[in-house]
Amino acid sequence: MLNKLNVESVDVKGKRVLVRCDFNVPLNDKQEITDDTRIVAALPTIEYLIKNGAKVILCSHMGKPKGEPKPELSLAPVAKKLSEKLGKDVIFAADDNVVGDNAKAAVAAMSDGDVVLLENTRYRKEETKNVETFSKELASLADVFVNDAFGTAHRAHCSNVGVSALVKPAVAGYLIEKEIKFLGNAVNSPERPLVAILGGSKVSTKISVIENLLKKVDKLIIGGGMAYTFFASQGKTIGNSLVEPDYIDYAKKMLDEGKDKLVLPVDTVITEKFDNDAPSKVVEDNIPDGWMGLDIGPKTIELFKSVLADAKTVVWNGPMGVFEMPNFAKGTNAILDLLVDLDATTIVGGGDSVAAVNQAGAGDKMSHVSTGGGASMEFLEGKELPGIAALDDAE
Ligand code: AMP
Repeated sequence: MLNKLNVESVDVKGKRVLVRCDFNVPLNDKQEITDDTRIVAALPTIEYLIKNGAKVILCSHMGKPKGEPKPELSLAPVAKKLSEKLGKDVIFAADDNVVGDNAKAAVAAMSDGDVVLLENTRYRKEETKNVETFSKELASLADVFVNDAFGTAHRAHCSNVGVSALVKPAVAGYLIEKEIKFLGNAVNSPERPLVAILGGSKVSTKISVIENLLKKVDKLIIGGGMAYTFFASQGKTIGNSLVEPDYIDYAKKMLDEGKDKLVLPVDTVITEKFDNDAPSKVVEDNIPDGWMGLDIGPKTIELFKSVLADAKTVVWNGPMGVFEMPNFAKGTNAILDLLVDLDATTIVGGGDSVAAVNQAGAGDKMSHVSTGGGASMEFLEGKELPGIAALDDAE
């Protein structure tokens, strides 16, 4: 459970409330938003504040403007989309300094229930270095600070950590609460059996996740490209499949330590070319020279199905194969279908598995789809998230 004050613990009527949101949404080359998931996820906190008569000042980063104004990374399209979603005008405080004359004037002119959106916080070079000058400028706009940007909670920046120290109270919004509720319960007090499914390309990027989860889960399923490093550690041949030679010993160690928990694929869809239309076949055990594994096979799907059958909590991070190619997306889609029908708390934590769920339009069929790739990974690694640690403790 989140041991931090939340937005409901503050009387916000008439107060200037600065809300750090995660509006880091993808844009096409016409500056149109191509996926508004993160905007929709921010609405409950914003709507609550409007309803309770706050002056709502929103801020966020978008992309990596590297400390200078980049018109193609302006938050102007977000203001437009938010106006549509909220059914009320969101005033965009266009301002290359983020908190310059224009932003100050926009805030000064606010009435209760108004919404102002500041410009991309990463237009300022201080932001990602958590330099106090910019934190102070942000703080000067506000009486209350609400952090609702789970996607950047693993970073200590001015607009989350810096400002939390300067504006009191500094509390959590609904989205951060929800993320911590699902991810936190899954890892710390899950209904059991707890099964984690890890996939994706590399063992190296998921070592800490594997280590932390092995301590907590009843079963840990490994699929995707990272499985072949485990195969190699068992002395199997893996052809041209993805492998990280430096991590073979590590994979062996994990297999020894987690032998009652780790579940590896028992068959693999292989091909000679990294190409959706290349002919493919299924092999068990060894992958021949010149061939590479791009998906889990049908027996593996059945095996994973049996492991998941009685699970009460499932955490999934990483695809089971090269899901971007339809012919090698079967394993990932089978897991997705399984989770949709499972009578369990299902949590999709970060990165490409979220993309796979969204690609299939299955987001609302999971108990929770995390909005924070890196943040949810660090959470699963058992790390403290600085953006959350900086908020005021609940009594
Ligand atoms: P990650 O960013 O480590 O979670 O990895 C996600 C990527 O892993 C996706 O782009 C998948 O296409 C890729 N991937 C999954 N399985 C395989 C595989 N068997 N071979 C190569 N790439 C894979």
